[in-house]
Amino acid sequence: MAPTENKTAPLAAPVTSLWGVGAERAAQLARLDIHTIEDLLLHRPKRYEDRRHFKKISELTKDEPATARGTIVAQGLKRFRGGSKSVFEFVLDDGTARLHCRWWNLPFMEKYFAVGDEVFVFGRLVETKPRTMDHPETEVIEGGEESFIHINRIAPVYPLTEGLPQRWLRGAIWRTLEKFERYIAGPQLGRVTPCAPSSETMKRRAEDCAPHQSLPTRANAVRMIHFPEELTDVEIARRRLALDEFIALQQAMQLRRKTFEAKSRVLPCGGDNRLMKPFLAQLGFKLTGAQTAVLREIRADMGGLHPMRRLLQGDVGSGKTVVAACTALMALESGFNAVLMAPTEILAEQHFRNFQKWLEPLGVKVELQTGSHKAVESRGSRVEGQPRRSPSSLVSRPSNLYIGTHALFTSGFDIPNLGLVIIDEQHKFGVAQREQLVRKGNYPHLLVMTATPIPRTLGLTLYGDLDVSVIDEMPAGRGRVKTFVRTADKLPKVWEFIHEKLAAGRQAYVIYPRVEEQDTAKDLKAVTKELENVRRTLAPFRVGLLHGRLKSREKDEVMTAFRANRIQALVATALIEVGVDVPNASIMLIENAERFGLAQLHQLRGRIGRGAHESQCILISSAKTIEARQRLKVLEETADGFRIAEADLKLRGPGELLGREQSGLPQFRFGNLVDDLDLIRQAREWVLTNCAIS
Ligand code: ADP
Ligand code: MG
Repeated sequence: MAPTENKTAPLAAPVTSLWGVGAERAAQLARLDIHTIEDLLLHRPKRYEDRRHFKKISELTKDEPATARGTIVAQGLKRFRGGSKSVFEFVLDDGTARLHCRWWNLPFMEKYFAVGDEVFVFGRLVETKPRTMDHPETEVIEGGEESFIHINRIAPVYPLTEGLPQRWLRGAIWRTLEKFERYIAGPQLGRVTPCAPSSETMKRRAEDCAPHQSLPTRANAVRMIHFPEELTDVEIARRRLALDEFIALQQAMQLRRKTFEAKSRVLPCGGDNRLMKPFLAQLGFKLTGAQTAVLREIRADMGGLHPMRRLLQGDVGSGKTVVAACTALMALESGFNAVLMAPTEILAEQHFRNFQKWLEPLGVKVELQTGSHKAVESRGSRVEGQPRRSPSSLVSRPSNLYIGTHALFTSGFDIPNLGLVIIDEQHKFGVAQREQLVRKGNYPHLLVMTATPIPRTLGLTLYGDLDVSVIDEMPAGRGRVKTFVRTADKLPKVWEFIHEKLAAGRQAYVIYPRVEEQDTAKDLKAVTKELENVRRTLAPFRVGLLHGRLKSREKDEVMTAFRANRIQALVATALIEVGVDVPNASIMLIENAERFGLAQLHQLRGRIGRGAHESQCILISSAKTIEARQRLKVLEETADGFRIAEADLKLRGPGELLGREQSGLPQFRFGNLVDDLDLIRQAREWVLTNCAIS
């Protein structure tokens, strides 16, 4: 796409190169993140006003947002409470009726208007006698040669910042478009079908769209997004601009993949089954069909010409850990070291215990490397001036499996002869961190595992450069998890029920939400207080406490006691969410469930139903609104993680779904990760067929 480069250069010029934009305007624009001419052209209107037709003031109805136009016939500022409070008001007349517009405590508004001015106002009536709007958006109508930009058309209304008038910005964008439209170039989309239906609106629209009609050019789309001829143009333009964003992202991802392939070497890690065979024989169960299929894909990658880059998705409890173990064995059999990274120390330790039990009988050395256990000296902790232990002393040892937390890789930890990195529960780990780690490990095979079913829009956006395997089958013989949503007044009965289950030999989790990503002092107080209640209620059974502020040794002790059934109930913050595996725990009570996302609740309840017992998850919601309780009902109805994740994405948006720790989520001006699956797919296809990046 070389020819577009010099053509786009004029768009990269700073806004100060525009006529009429000085330092002050530039500073205001910068607050809107507009720095270049291109930024200005891509500043997206927040809404549109059809200024070809107006509501008469006499026809305005209460509470309904609408635009009116008229002439100011009176105005005035009233001060009260000794001058500390004020209300500015003008009265607008359009010949059909009068409209009062009020601004509280903004006395300077008086300067902007004069009797006789013609103005647009946008707002909703708060009173009808007399007709009144509070704090409407306004724009003074001026005559002159540029008036056609602002009236008798569908006018864009932009997000503004203090001191920047709507009218000025609209004029500036119009003039900039006139001058620079010819420089706007984008991918030529001959092969892309427009209007492939995704959202409901697009499905409806698709019927009006001839299948061979192409999307507008990028230049046309930019014009249409600012100055559409019909309101329906806006969505067509948005889709074109969104597609361009997705194409740019897919190009970057393909480039990342190509760079990776260019830098990497052949790492023969297909293995010879020397360890795998006995491992599978002593496992005590047969792999599911899905596990076997995934392992076949992984083995092909590990023996291929480029290191593996694979995402493994599988619902909680689908058995990803065994797949990880088999993958590690392939690398170890081939003479390489391997690393498994977990998001928390509890999980790292749990993996460590499992892998030790599984692999040490086979003669494989498994080492734990967390903040509290150190197997390998880290570069960061090396004393200045002391020679570093030479890597060859490590190489000469037989291949090891290192298990650690993500935090390790932000420190100086490094492993020689690294063949494989496995990242468990990827969604706690940013994309940038992942790439940094891969670079640091000198491009080993990479297996990323996640239990959050990722809606496809997000999957293609975040992991577009990874191949995807899915474990879509649960191991046989699992007890089912039944989920119930209950209001807090049912708690006494719920506790009674839990008591019975404990008496029958089961164990239970009692979960309280944390307010922040890290457990805060406030959460801690709440959860500690609850602990006393739970202890009293569940006596004589023993109750333990787990939260993010415990030292890792303390966490370890609690988990060990729970695993050994020395504690029958575990009161915990949502810390427990990832990966913990105690098959005898078959009951989960989640308090204030409405505070969690659906995907997170689904993860949490994945902690039960791991043994043969029928399991129960009880969601207590004190949510006042019916919607909030309706939302939780999704969990009663389905165990399909993908459906839940899609619902969560629609309800809460991508940032919340993935958690605030997710740093890799790109920001789009026009793209919409909830609705644009068809565009994301088209972008990917377009990049794969049109961009041979060499
Ligand atoms: P997750 O995918 O959530 O990480 P795990 O790997 O922790 O799931 O597996 C959950 C439980 O299922 C573990 O106790 C594991 O030993 C067991 N498991 C895994 N695969 C199978 C299988 N094929 N048959 C029976 N049990 C299995
Ligand atoms: Mg797991």
